[in-house]
Amino acid sequence: MVIDAELAWEKLVRRDADAELFYAVITTGVFCRVGCASRRPKRENVRFFGTAMEARGAGFRPCNRCKPDIARGSVLDKIRAHIEANLDRAVPLAELALVAKLSPFTVQRLFKREAGVSPLQYQRALRTNRLRASLKQGDSVTDAIYNAGFGSSSRAYEAAPLGMTPARFATGGKGERIGYASAPTPFGWMVVGATERGLCWLALSATKPEAEETLRDEFPKAELRRDASLAKLIDAALASVREGSDLRESRLSATAFDLRGTVFQLRVWNALRRIPRGQTRTYSQLAREMGEPNATRAVARACAMNRVAVLVPCHRVVGVSGSLTGYRWGVERKKKLLVAEQAR
Ligand SMILES: [Zn+2]
Repeated sequence: MVIDAELAWEKLVRRDADAELFYAVITTGVFCRVGCASRRPKRENVRFFGTAMEARGAGFRPCNRCKPDIARGSVLDKIRAHIEANLDRAVPLAELALVAKLSPFTVQRLFKREAGVSPLQYQRALRTNRLRASLKQGDSVTDAIYNAGFGSSSRAYEAAPLGMTPARFATGGKGERIGYASAPTPFGWMVVGATERGLCWLALSATKPEAEETLRDEFPKAELRRDASLAKLIDAALASVREGSDLRESRLSATAFDLRGTVFQLRVWNALRRIPRGQTRTYSQLAREMGEPNATRAVARACAMNRVAVLVPCHRVVGVSGSLTGYRWGVERKKKLLVAEQAR
């Protein structure tokens, strides 16, 4: 195949993701798709190829980032598209094999090599978290998989106990009915919000209107209605500060959560719930406890995104020197909560 180098270079500069065109960099020995997001090489060091095989044949190694030797444009995209179009059900491997016109074994192997997880795991992740929403917002599939907590850990699913459903929260709670109640507490006005599935919001503010406003801000499109029976959730939150998580078996187990996030966020929020009352962790300790020692910053971000203060005790995470760092509901409140939890 004769390649117009001028045109090819243009495609490289544009990072044309659709082009089935490859370039190798003589100085690094690596070859990429022209759509690869890696740093643009100097033009004089670049050689173009029509297929990955030719680039390999010329002695170049495939880039780890764009994985140019995987036939992404065809089969894998088809498989993904099919999975994503059928998220409401489990799609068996045999069906994917038919779609891809490959053996189930090959589908499994190809997919795992590209995505790092099996097609079935991928489906489960898509279905149980906000991956789909994240993709719509423009994250790449790879980012979305990473954000969903895959990559290194085989424990991607330990978040399951929180029982989340697909991400309708992504659109400001559109179509959701959220009941709420608020009450004054020693830590400020507390507002709780719950869907039919469970507690989805707990915030602390200076005044009752401010507290209730937080709910409206978070779920602007939800149908909100006051529900006095939810005051029991406020009691449960206060009890968790006063008496600790020993109560989980009795009172707290009756508290259903409706938390929605990426698999990774849910893992972090679960890990927070395992920090006993009266104790604190640093972000890096928490990351280590989750088996993700390199994910400290991602852990901190997930803590900051917590929607259920107190009962998902992100206030129990502090800076390395014991400093209080930030708190979505105000550092003063974090301090008060921790002091109250130190008390016997
Ligand atoms: Zn590349």
